[in-house]
Amino acid sequence: MPSVRVLITEEQIRERLRELAAQITRDYDGQPVTLLGVLTGSLMLVADLVRQLPLRTRIGFIQASSYRGATTRPDKLEIVPTLLPDVRDRHVLLVDDILDTGQTLNQVLDHIRSLRPRSVRVAVLLRKRGRQELPCEPDYIGFEIPDVFVVGYGLDYDDEYRQLPYVGVLEP
Ligand code: 5GP
Ligand code: MG
Repeated sequence: MPSVRVLITEEQIRERLRELAAQITRDYDGQPVTLLGVLTGSLMLVADLVRQLPLRTRIGFIQASSYRGATTRPDKLEIVPTLLPDVRDRHVLLVDDILDTGQTLNQVLDHIRSLRPRSVRVAVLLRKRGRQELPCEPDYIGFEIPDVFVVGYGLDYDDEYRQLPYVGVLEP
């Protein structure tokens, strides 16, 4: 089994999420918010974030998959909206694990906007430096990382490694 080199520790994630949650709480200023996680990678982030928001919240998920194994080129993106709650006229906070090329978030955002929410903001745990091909400026970013393939804290390699409490790089 390959080993994993730690890039961002559990403690660093915890600390950063505290800051982001405080910022989100200030920004929404008592308004109810629907957190929409992009499955499956956002699972940990949604769970850890929502528990730190002293706001009225709803939780929903949207499935959008474009990746196979460690390939970092997106092929056709498939959006499965079956787990999506009604977001019309609601403040939506879209939550994803990582912003790479921007394909996923842009397509998911198009879909969400077509449902006429009152507002849409975006939170990502990670943003890869120098990779964005489409303009996408998340409102909340946990960490900027170099262009490496990472796993853990929701991020997978071939659907494994998601349960790691930290973010790391697979070593052969
Ligand atoms: P984008 O559409 O922005 O190119 O890619 C975003 C999606 O690709 C993420 O939601 C994630 O599922 C996947 N992805 C991109 N980079 C990585 C990575 O380094 N590790 C893992 N596990 N998934 C990644
Ligand atoms: Mg994803």
